[in-house]
Amino acid sequence: MIKDKWIDLHLHTNYSDGLLTPSQVVKKAKEVGLKAVAIVDHDTIDGIEEAVETGSRIGVEVVPGVELSSQYNGKDIHILAYYFDPDHTYLKRYLKKFREERYRRAAKMIQNLNRLGIHLTMDEVEERSKGGSIGRPHLAEVLMEKGYIETFQEAFHHYIGYHSEAYEEKYKIHPEEAFDLISKAKGLSFLAHPGHFISDHEILSFVKSGLDGIEIIHPKFNENRTQHLQQLAWDNDLLICGGSDCHGGRDGQIYIGKYNVPYTVLRDMKLVLRKRWDTHPSTG
Ligand SMILES: [Zn+2]
Ligand SMILES: [Zn+2]
Repeated sequence: MIKDKWIDLHLHTNYSDGLLTPSQVVKKAKEVGLKAVAIVDHDTIDGIEEAVETGSRIGVEVVPGVELSSQYNGKDIHILAYYFDPDHTYLKRYLKKFREERYRRAAKMIQNLNRLGIHLTMDEVEERSKGGSIGRPHLAEVLMEKGYIETFQEAFHHYIGYHSEAYEEKYKIHPEEAFDLISKAKGLSFLAHPGHFISDHEILSFVKSGLDGIEIIHPKFNENRTQHLQQLAWDNDLLICGGSDCHGGRDGQIYIGKYNVPYTVLRDMKLVLRKRWDTHPSTG
């Protein structure tokens, strides 16, 4: 197998809830022989610059990406975006709003925990997030460090998981808003890891609202699901993407590059962009 033809378009860094820095992620990708990667942190693009810099130094193509949180009919819908202009004003305004809301949410959960007699402060949590976007994993780390819980899972189970005592809802936009925002920033939008909770009919309705493609390779998919989504993409002329959704070993393993995604996937994206905007995507 010629390893340098493989890519991974779903990687998280410590700018959201991953453990590795963007540089470490890109270096790891190089080690396992990947030709290109996309960093898709949750609702932030702050890690891209470092990844691009490392990538150009060591010879890994880095695609600008982000994974946006949206909600539709009470369902959490993650939307991946690639090749947008990171300096687009409209996109930047949204990401700023996401950052403010994330901070507010963390502060609320800390208040809730304090009310339950658990002592942790925003400073401690911010320290863990190292300037990146604050999320529940950082709260869990502080809880563990202070001995309130023994495992990461316990934090979610008892305190900050969905329906747990200190849980607060995340700020989410409607998928259509996300498609609009991504397309205004000249990027491509993909439905991340569409599981069985979402019907083909719903996916196709998103396509009508501006969705460009679907993620068909993901660790939570079995062979059947991947094949089904591949067929859906073929039948409806959708772009595809895929990756390991690696969080840098937060769950014990580093999966970067483990889910063979061929480089042709990126080539197809670039073709569409070239046709649509009559330009070359900025990277690669
Ligand atoms: Zn996701
Ligand atoms: Zn993800």
